[in-house]
Amino acid sequence: MDVSPILDPLNEAQRDAVSASVGNTLVLAGAGSGKTRVLVHRIAWLLTVEEATPWSVLAVTFTNKAAKEMRGRIEELLGQPIGGMWVGTFHGLAHRLLRAHWKEAGLPQSFQILDSDDQFRMIKRILKSLDLDDAKWPPRQVQWFINGKKDEGLRAQHLDDGGDPYQHQMIRIYTEYQAACERGGMVDFAELLLRAHELWRDRADILQHYQARFRHVLVDEFQDTNAIQYAWLRLLTRGQDNLFVVGDDDQSIYGWRGAQVENIRNFEQNCSNSRMFKLEQNYRSTGNILNAANALIGNNPSRLGKQLWTADGEGDPINLYSAFNEVDEARFVIERIRQFISDGNSRSESAILYRTSAQSRIFEEALVQSAIPYRVYGGLRFFERAEIRDAMAYLRLLNNPDDDAAFERAVNMPPRGIGPKTVDAVRAHARDFNVSLWVATAELLKGGAMPRRAANSLQGFLDLVEELRIDTAALDLPEKVEQVLAASRLPEHFEKSRDGKGQDRKENLEELVNATRQFGYEAHADEEMDELSSFLSHAALEAGEAQGDPFEDCVQLMTLHSAKGLEFPLVFLVGVEEGLFPHSMSADDPERLEEERRLCYVGVTRAMQTLYMSHAESRRLHGQENYPRPSRFLREIPSSLMREIRSGPQVTQPLYSKPARAYTDESVGFSLGQRVIHPKFGEGVVLNAEGQGRSARVQVNFETEGSKWLVVAYANLSPC
Ligand code: ATP
Ligand code: MG
Repeated sequence: MDVSPILDPLNEAQRDAVSASVGNTLVLAGAGSGKTRVLVHRIAWLLTVEEATPWSVLAVTFTNKAAKEMRGRIEELLGQPIGGMWVGTFHGLAHRLLRAHWKEAGLPQSFQILDSDDQFRMIKRILKSLDLDDAKWPPRQVQWFINGKKDEGLRAQHLDDGGDPYQHQMIRIYTEYQAACERGGMVDFAELLLRAHELWRDRADILQHYQARFRHVLVDEFQDTNAIQYAWLRLLTRGQDNLFVVGDDDQSIYGWRGAQVENIRNFEQNCSNSRMFKLEQNYRSTGNILNAANALIGNNPSRLGKQLWTADGEGDPINLYSAFNEVDEARFVIERIRQFISDGNSRSESAILYRTSAQSRIFEEALVQSAIPYRVYGGLRFFERAEIRDAMAYLRLLNNPDDDAAFERAVNMPPRGIGPKTVDAVRAHARDFNVSLWVATAELLKGGAMPRRAANSLQGFLDLVEELRIDTAALDLPEKVEQVLAASRLPEHFEKSRDGKGQDRKENLEELVNATRQFGYEAHADEEMDELSSFLSHAALEAGEAQGDPFEDCVQLMTLHSAKGLEFPLVFLVGVEEGLFPHSMSADDPERLEEERRLCYVGVTRAMQTLYMSHAESRRLHGQENYPRPSRFLREIPSSLMREIRSGPQVTQPLYSKPARAYTDESVGFSLGQRVIHPKFGEGVVLNAEGQGRSARVQVNFETEGSKWLVVAYANLSPC
């Protein structure tokens, strides 16, 4: 047996961890030190040296993409396929388990996954049916409450309101919501985990089967497991001493969603006979990037404490760009990416990382204008687009007519004369008789009490779905989708839409057919589902990890949260401003501020060679102009590691300025973003400019007086 391909590419500490005897093991190490690599090599080691079968290994990764990569890398190391191994996210694995044991888990065989948008709508519906005011009971808050409780393993009946009317109402909504889910055979994301846990907790026979099967359980990004995920892992590995986890407490960034960094801090206490390995050499980033990351995270008081070093050189300093506004920031970034590509690098080696997904739009527009292909991860995802959801609603109804969320979506889309009153009547009947909307409609139609026109339209809808089900039963998935699109008349409807996106929307629908073609049913065939169910689950679970053709060379755009575990030669960390990053909601809470700082640490450590950090002096956010200060995180990085890039004259023109606004620097005498002082209005920032010569005007935002347009020749402005 030749273990050299497995051990040779590792350093000594990594080798120790990979070749440790089987037992509870924690690899605790900073970013880019090879944790994920250790996990992959550990699996290869188990399969060769410990003679484990692929069938006996369960590995949890952070994304489906990571799972795919892990599989590929293990197969490469071993030179053979490893079918039968369970590799996936917690949600993906829980889903797989529930598909295999739907009956024991108390689910209908065709249970459907409710993604967070469906869940939101469902909650809105429940609030309405309970006569609760949306304004007083914001659906997002309710959603947060329900998911939070599920993540803690709590069902409505476990909760006690303690006499608090707010809690009382929340528990009531949770109860109603869950009843509606059960009626429709719907499972939300948090429910996947909770139910998978309950399945093992309550069915000793099933648990024993999996305990006997999974002799090796490995987890990447362990610092971000939440209570229910941890409990699930503990059940599986109870008494077995076979849990191998890797993680970094400094990269715990899901505390706001219930992740418990204590799981990693207390690993040694909680797991018997455990060993810990530390890795300290970083292989990813240059010295400067690493030192910046170390300095930044050093500001967090509660850490396990780790030292990272690199054998690499210092590399370039970290580039800091102060943009005058968000448009200038985008222009700057795109310009640098263009340069990077023209130097012969591939686009996918560059990434733009931001704190909130709304920030992507401006970069997307700039990339489109520059005709540079890009891909957004975790933004508005393909499967989340309205038109795609509408089409999916029909597919879901074919699969399960009791899917209320799909019914609501499709019943009057495209419009077929079924008004809100009619739908209300259907909802009321469904509630009164505790049946699905589909059944309620059929019963109402049979009862004959509906007004004629409404009855005709509803009957038309039921017939349409019924006929589609029969006509497409024997077709394969892409043909099925084509026929559903044609019969639903959704493409025609969207083509006519007046928002200027008609063509896009129609093309997206066509893309859905492609998506089903690329789906590769065989790859998912072990999930014990028919092709349509398998595709629908795939769409709900994997939505948004990637869009478009994964093989196309694209600039990568994503939120910092989605960037975890990844690495890129060129990274732009944008919008590094107070209020945005750290986020305004976290700045006053020390714990949340620490989490923001960890997020920044994650961002910085994604960069291999070159890192740009940028902030804008003015930013339009939620329709308002803001003048944020640069983030404290920038100050926490030693200035000796930074190189400031000033906006030169070429930078002072807004990217999308209207022709009338175009101006040259000289004609106005001030650059955009420049601080100026006015004898009467005081200090301000130049936001905009137009005209030339004696008619040149500038718009200045004054600290006390607000924004004003001034004629330069008369304004007596001076730089300050
Ligand atoms: P993160 O905390 O960001 O998830 P990580 O600790 O999982 O990072 P990896 O992604 O496994 O780190 O490794 C970082 C980079 O260093 C990868 O490109 C990996 O291939 C490389 N690397 C890791 N160990 C070695 C090694 N011993 N020799 C050469 N390259 C290595
Ligand atoms: Mg990793």
